[in-house]
Amino acid sequence: ESTLFVVSTPIGNLEDMTPRAIEVLKQVSVIAAEDTRHSRKLLNHFGIETPMIPCHEHNERHQAEVLLARLQQGDSVALISDAGTPLISDPGFVLVRTVREQGVKVVPVPGACALVAALSVSGLPTDRFYFEGFLPAKSSGRKKKLESLGVMTNTWAVYESTHRILDSLADFREVLGADRYIVLAREMTKTFETVIAGTVEEVEKILQEDSNQCRGEFVVLVEGAAVQEEETVDPDTAKLLKRLLQELP
Ligand code: SAM
Repeated sequence: ESTLFVVSTPIGNLEDMTPRAIEVLKQVSVIAAEDTRHSRKLLNHFGIETPMIPCHEHNERHQAEVLLARLQQGDSVALISDAGTPLISDPGFVLVRTVREQGVKVVPVPGACALVAALSVSGLPTDRFYFEGFLPAKSSGRKKKLESLGVMTNTWAVYESTHRILDSLADFREVLGADRYIVLAREMTKTFETVIAGTVEEVEKILQEDSNQCRGEFVVLVEGAAVQEEETVDPDTAKLLKRLLQELP
């Protein structure tokens, strides 16, 4: 049965490539890749000779039709992005949606994802969390977004790049306050992997004082806003209230 495989690739350390990912990429007829030049290195490293076609945000609509036609002719296809799990702040949504709507089988080949890796080491509550992806590039838009994120009581996360990390942290301080607890996961699985936890003010200071700490790729995790304490009622009053409630018409 022809299948679209959505294949995760490493977020830095090539050892995180799964044996199943290698096997699937070798066996499909074609690999749809966000950036074929970038992915060529990965495929060469693992001796994968499958042809690639580009599939990125600017051609995804067209390529989805092309790939759907191939799937309907019986070919299997794999989708990869530059790093980590496709569709997670990466292209692939249009393709998966199109293919699924036509009843073609879509199968995940899971692996690395920066969001999940960061959450797993953050020490923040992970029973519930919210992922915003990338924040707006402009400070005004970013602050507006931070205002709505700032009231959530669950952990939340954003992706951030080296160019904007300091500007973003300044907006965090302004909107969320200097004391909000955050965890910055940088360059995970790579040589300069660092995880810095502290208040916005503390983390900002560390980055301002060491420009090396501003380099690379970041996941910023933010502790949820404090839950408003519910007023506590002593057991006798609670019992009385319950009885009074039952008397109500
Ligand atoms: N699809 C990818 C995934 O599964 O994580 C994310 C792709 S998104 C275009 C790239 C962003 O992911 C980076 O700007 C950074 O925020 C985050 N990221 C990717 N690799 C990372 C790493 N090794 N350490 C920290 N953050 C990373």
